[in-house]
Amino acid sequence: MAPGALAVLFPEFLGDRLRLESWQVGAAGLFIFVCVLIWMAYGVKCPGCGVNLFLHAVGYTKGGNWLHWLLHADTCPTCGYTTKVPTDTVTR
Ligand SMILES: [Zn+2]
Repeated sequence: MAPGALAVLFPEFLGDRLRLESWQVGAAGLFIFVCVLIWMAYGVKCPGCGVNLFLHAVGYTKGGNWLHWLLHADTCPTCGYTTKVPTDTVTR
């Protein structure tokens, strides 16, 4: 997502270095950005219940921090599925 956003925001800078027209760099960046957004919308699901975590993050987080929530979530808000290993079951 970040490379696509950079290409959209700085097409002249990248176009000069890649020897491409700035509109080509901007269009490629937009294409990458949209593809990543679609992948996130359909591919980021809870392995436990299958709820779409991307749509949950966009719809239910406050203050526009959906990306932060999505990157740091370790427990499903719907079913409670977690990626954490309970500390009392760890053998030493
Ligand atoms: Zn779940």
